[in-house]
Amino acid sequence: MSDAQTSSAKSADPTEPNRRTEIALPLPQPDSLTQAYWDACREERLEVSRCEDCDHLFLPPGPCCPKCWSGKLSTRVASGNGSVFSYVVYRRSYHPGIPAPYVVALIELDEGPRLISNIVGCEIEEVEIGMPVRVRFEAAGDYLLPRFEPNGAED
Ligand SMILES: [Zn+2]
Repeated sequence: MSDAQTSSAKSADPTEPNRRTEIALPLPQPDSLTQAYWDACREERLEVSRCEDCDHLFLPPGPCCPKCWSGKLSTRVASGNGSVFSYVVYRRSYHPGIPAPYVVALIELDEGPRLISNIVGCEIEEVEIGMPVRVRFEAAGDYLLPRFEPNGAED
């Protein structure tokens, strides 16, 4: 009804041609807990949080250890190697800045922590659970985003 009329009127605005194609990829919104993580990514280091009391490694960064609740935390640089724990293929775009198809995967790092990322550098059909992957930092705005590519061709 009126919603459809409103949106078609907006897209027909001659002063803003191609507005949809200018919408950028959503970028990280660091806070006091995650700023260091994103700063490390800018230097192409994948850091995981480490509990000083029980040695547990985890992601995402938080105010305390999710295993023992200790607040004595530090960070450790991860190897960037891991494997696909699970994944889903998006065949429809849900954001103009993220064209389909693309893969969203739960990566299990060799050090243990898991994080959600994208699989890049291969055909979507090649992605499978258990596939070895390694981090590849890709520029997006002022950030370097940790994505993962197949780690079959180690050099
Ligand atoms: Zn702990």
